Amino acid sequence: MAGKKREIQLQTVINSQTLWEEMLQNKGLTVIDVYQAWCGPCKAMQTLFRKLKNELNEDEILHFVVAEVDNIVALQAFKDKCEPVFLFSLNGKIVAKVTGANAPLVNKNIITLISDERKIIAGEMIRPQYQEVLLADSDSEDAGELIYDSVEQYSIAIIKPDVVITGKVIELKEKIISAGFVIEAETGTIFTEEEVRDVYSDIADQPDFEDFVSFMTSGLSYIVVISQGDEEEAENPNLDEYGEIFENESEVEVKRASIESKAKRDSLQEYLERQHISQFCDVEGNVEKVNRLIDIFFPDFRNKKELKLEKILVLLRPDILQHRKEDVLKVIQNEGFKILMERQLVLSEVEARTLCKRFEDEDYYGTLIGNMTRLCAKFAMDSLPICQLHGSDSLEAAEREIQLLFPPQNTLAMIKPHVTPKEREEILKLIKENGFEMIQAKYMIMNEESAEKIYSKIKGRDFYKSLLDMLAEGPSLVMMLRKWNAILDWRRLMGPVDPIEAKLLSPDSIRAVYGRSILKNIVHGSSSLMEAQDTISKIFNEFVTEHPEEN
Ligand code: ADP
Ligand code: MG
Repeated sequence: MAGKKREIQLQTVINSQTLWEEMLQNKGLTVIDVYQAWCGPCKAMQTLFRKLKNELNEDEILHFVVAEVDNIVALQAFKDKCEPVFLFSLNGKIVAKVTGANAPLVNKNIITLISDERKIIAGEMIRPQYQEVLLADSDSEDAGELIYDSVEQYSIAIIKPDVVITGKVIELKEKIISAGFVIEAETGTIFTEEEVRDVYSDIADQPDFEDFVSFMTSGLSYIVVISQGDEEEAENPNLDEYGEIFENESEVEVKRASIESKAKRDSLQEYLERQHISQFCDVEGNVEKVNRLIDIFFPDFRNKKELKLEKILVLLRPDILQHRKEDVLKVIQNEGFKILMERQLVLSEVEARTLCKRFEDEDYYGTLIGNMTRLCAKFAMDSLPICQLHGSDSLEAAEREIQLLFPPQNTLAMIKPHVTPKEREEILKLIKENGFEMIQAKYMIMNEESAEKIYSKIKGRDFYKSLLDMLAEGPSLVMMLRKWNAILDWRRLMGPVDPIEAKLLSPDSIRAVYGRSILKNIVHGSSSLMEAQDTISKIFNEFVTEHPEEN
């Protein structure tokens, strides 16, 4: 009796498609013995499973099941096969298949997958991409071994403060992109001392390392994650065409050889060197170091890649907005979408026409535009033959539409003297968390002349002199921040001018948390579009003229 009980605990029985789908929700590894009702599960392998279950002792991330082919739609390809089959499902994805009672291979797969899983959970390893085994094709061979998908290898370019301040980042990025590389992620960041020591630990014993640390923490760096891009898309002429052009066989051969060697693309470093621009950034290709940098600066990068997070623009038309807004928002959230930005607006005719371009030739186009441009239009919900929700129909369209309705805006922000380095780091973190991109940044000790660039509007106020004195007492960090609605959002994050008032009205705001007094209220931000444009151009001069404001 006791023996029987242990057996039940070892392998869960999956005998319906519903249970199968539930099983795919298991966390970690599920080892599936696929069996035919008429011959039963593989007894021989149970000893191994029991041994591994005891030795690995990972009940949370290691599961064993038996799955009956006849009752599970997903397994129909295995119907009437007489050999035992073992599948390995990792977080719902079948990553390996072993045909036959091949105990050594089954053992090896389980041990490899569990030890990887442990490392991933401990943050010591990034999840590898295994190739998925397609169950429809039960005869496919070589699926017994774990096959890694051609793991994308990233390089990281670090553009240092001296280059960033010259405004060269955009130009560099454009060159890299036009050479076929893909920018997977990027961020402007001011290195903390700790980060420099961590990232550059390999050069820590060099005599001028302390100067290097000061240099790296002195301003904004850019960290860009770059992949090699699609090799096939990189100028790869159709070889067959050459066969027709060159009649002479040997000439064809020569041509082929040279094309093949050309098809192998330059690495990022080689490319930068060839373009004589390698001095503008450090390229890191070492896998461990790249992974380390990704972990520090792009903590959710892998998740995003894995889940293929994408953005779309959704528009609730006036009639829905009026009657069903809450319901629709609930559905959107229940479906697992996260709302990143939200605004209520009356579309201009041009905006409506751009968004509805794909319906241009339809009879109802006129009515549609009329409907879209009125916030309180009263139409029956079914008055138009198309869905009442507008959603972007491709990724490119989404990108364009989001740009159109949520155009990025720049603001000038400043962290004034009198913060401790730790407080400054915390504020910089808040800036990131609130979705601001840092486009430019520099430390300045404000004298009368530079302070006037920012505060000309309040020159006449009685506290102006004390403001100048306060600013002269230490370095301020001046920044150009970018996001949709940046000016207002940054002012909201700063809070009211007087920290006492801020504590009452907006207790989480920066001035409430860090402000010392109305004078030493720690942060500055532009109050209008005009002021933002004016001060950004004065502080970061020519840089901004390349990027005219869009809203
Ligand atoms: P904000 O910084 O919110 O845009 P203002 O433009 O009115 O506010 O003022 C600029 C800065 O001058 C404030 O951030 C603060 O440092 C300082 N300041 C404003 N009012 C006073 C005051 N009554 N006494 C002392 N300093 C003040
Ligand atoms: Mg102001």
